[in-house]
Amino acid sequence: MRRSQSFIKTKKQAPADEQAHNAQLLIRGGYIHKEMAGVYSYLPLGKRVLDNIAQIVREEMNAIGTEEVQMSVLQPKELWEKTNRWDDNVVDNWFKTKLKSGTELGVGLTHEEAVADALHDYIFSYKDLPIYVYQIQNKFRNELRAKSGLLRGREFVMKDLYSLSRSQEEHDAFYEKISSAYLKIFSRVGLGDITYPTYASGGYFSGFSREFQTLSEIGEDTIYLDKQKRVAVNKEIYEYSLLEKIGLNKEDLVEVKAVEVGNIFPLGTKYTDALGMHFADEQGQKKSITMGSYGIGISRLMGLLAEHFADEHGLVWPANVAPYKVYLANLSDSEPAKQAAEAVYRSLSEAGVATIYDDRNERPGEKFADADLMGIPLRLVVSEKSLQAGGFELKYRTKSEVEIIPATSVSQQVVDKVKSLI
Ligand code: ATP
Ligand code: MG
Repeated sequence: MRRSQSFIKTKKQAPADEQAHNAQLLIRGGYIHKEMAGVYSYLPLGKRVLDNIAQIVREEMNAIGTEEVQMSVLQPKELWEKTNRWDDNVVDNWFKTKLKSGTELGVGLTHEEAVADALHDYIFSYKDLPIYVYQIQNKFRNELRAKSGLLRGREFVMKDLYSLSRSQEEHDAFYEKISSAYLKIFSRVGLGDITYPTYASGGYFSGFSREFQTLSEIGEDTIYLDKQKRVAVNKEIYEYSLLEKIGLNKEDLVEVKAVEVGNIFPLGTKYTDALGMHFADEQGQKKSITMGSYGIGISRLMGLLAEHFADEHGLVWPANVAPYKVYLANLSDSEPAKQAAEAVYRSLSEAGVATIYDDRNERPGEKFADADLMGIPLRLVVSEKSLQAGGFELKYRTKSEVEIIPATSVSQQVVDKVKSLI
């Protein structure tokens, strides 16, 4: 991407009504646009980060044999009445709308009913199960407070997966499989060390659900963490009898703040029974279907990564999710510098290294500040001065030293450095 051809500009200030640090940084860096409280649009840089996170999630979901779908956002009232989840007294954060005819519709906030109902047509016997489907889609929730930027949106991007199994055992086996896939995802986005499976409320059969909580001061949740065993308990359900049941000791736990980045819910046969779904087992007996749902907050993760890794100069993306790996800036109008920058831009692009090329006519200080604020992992600078010193200046976003790389080998060296980052 050439800065001269992009509409993106960084900002000195975030809007006065934006209180969340993640959204302030992302707005200033040119990643997102605030539509209203809890509602953000993704600009080119933001879209690339969101897509990178989604792609990591997609790869890990596909690796465990699940299939991607895209359910409708508009939902019929009748379907949700069957499971008693239409009433505002039961689910209090619905957005609802109406057809011109007056027929009421819901705006999808989760998709257990929709997925189960669509799959109903495909399930007859034990041979048709298990089924695992997921989607990556905007969800709509009329959240009471939306003051945390991307961490709590009224419109936000979620990965939601649903499993339909023949038995509790089959369900449990998948539950563990997806749990490890989740840990891989959180490692790949750079949060592996500080993300913990956490016992939480809800959940059929076992009596609890499993959240994935990332340690952070900005978290809304309080958890009790056993660092040694790498497992935690949400404060909501923290009590002696539970600790005993799951084999944790009060003395080994520390109280910490955390952000819920994902969760998995055993749903038993509650929804499938309510929707009249069954299958015939090997003996032709009618059996209930065991369901589970599994979420990850894609846009919440983006907000958390933005806020967690930032420093006083701006964003600092982990290389795996960074919108571009290299920020290339030419600082002089001399022909040799310009030609050297153009040549490197071309060869990095050919090598598949996502590069922002700052070819604008701006002061060096401006370009350095943008590279920092945007949080691009590697900064590569060329100027008359750098060419005299032997080539290009390379700097990592997370380090202060600058190294000089000869113009002749710069592309190859940058390709290698990018590879070693991811
Ligand atoms: P929370 O406890 O944070 O309200 P939840 O328990 O309602 O979330 P789910 O309905 O299971 O969450 O959604 C799955 C995932 O989607 C959550 O783990 C979280 O990462 C993300 N998520 C939920 N609500 C929001 C929101 N309003 N904005 C952004 N991400 C969200
Ligand atoms: Mg929750």
